[in-house]
Amino acid sequence: MSPPRFGVAGIAGRMGRLLAEEVRSSGAVLAGGTDRPERQAAIATDIAFHPDIAALAAASDVVIDFTHASAVIPPAAALAAAGTGWVLGTTGLSVTDETAVCEAAARIPVVFAPNFSPGVNLVLALARRMAAALPAEEYDAEIVEMHHRQKVDAPSGTALGLGRAVAEGRGVTLEGNTESGRDGHTGARRTGAIGFAALRGGQVVGEHTLLFAGASEHIALTHRAFDRRVFASGAVRAARWVAGRPAGLYSMADVLGIAAEA
Ligand code: NAD
Repeated sequence: MSPPRFGVAGIAGRMGRLLAEEVRSSGAVLAGGTDRPERQAAIATDIAFHPDIAALAAASDVVIDFTHASAVIPPAAALAAAGTGWVLGTTGLSVTDETAVCEAAARIPVVFAPNFSPGVNLVLALARRMAAALPAEEYDAEIVEMHHRQKVDAPSGTALGLGRAVAEGRGVTLEGNTESGRDGHTGARRTGAIGFAALRGGQVVGEHTLLFAGASEHIALTHRAFDRRVFASGAVRAARWVAGRPAGLYSMADVLGIAAEA
């Protein structure tokens, strides 16, 4: 059987460059990549630079996409039209973007994860269980994250994923239960709220803590990523897993086989 062909959207970016290395070291074929035209000079000359996502889709079995939230809609349409799988790691998506992802997933296999690290996905599963076990009126859930100074969205996709996991464990929705960006006279904390705080600075790859604060005890789950490569290798693992699967929207927990325990 010939090795799978993986393309990388955003191949000149921090994640894109690592993804190109990880695809090659995994034994898959690097089908090349896309980026903004002015970034072409930043990629190695032995990597095919495709003019657009449709050309990359035609050359790939799966496209691994870590770009920018403004760049989600075109791949959704192009990959669905080409029948190419999609591993999507971009964060900061709008509701419209997420709808486009779901529509694409009706036609092609898609793995969409705010964080491709195996450790974070285990933390998400644990968060759901803890939230189900700890009454919301007794344990206040707070999510604190820190990232490098270049990060453009907040809270991080992983922090929102943690918030969703807590909401699911409590049987509520995240929307309407969020408290974030507290500043000034905010009033007392709302019972059952899921709080978010974002720190930005230096070159921190990604740190997330989920704290359940009770009157007499605190329980915290912390994950620290020291190297972006953990996301790149996780995304390539997802690409291998999703290649040839039926259309559908899959999570990293599906890839890791921990979805049933979540
Ligand atoms: P980056 O800015 O270094 O790279 C993004 C690249 O995408 C750039 O080279 C940019 O030119 C390119 N790009 C922008 N618009 C494009 C378009 N329309 N077509 C093709 N390329 C385009 O950013 P990064 O640190 O590599 O992160 C990229 C995204 O991945 C962000 O949304 C980030 O939050 C997310 N991310 C997700 C995970 C995860 O595990 N899911 C991990 C790390 C980063």
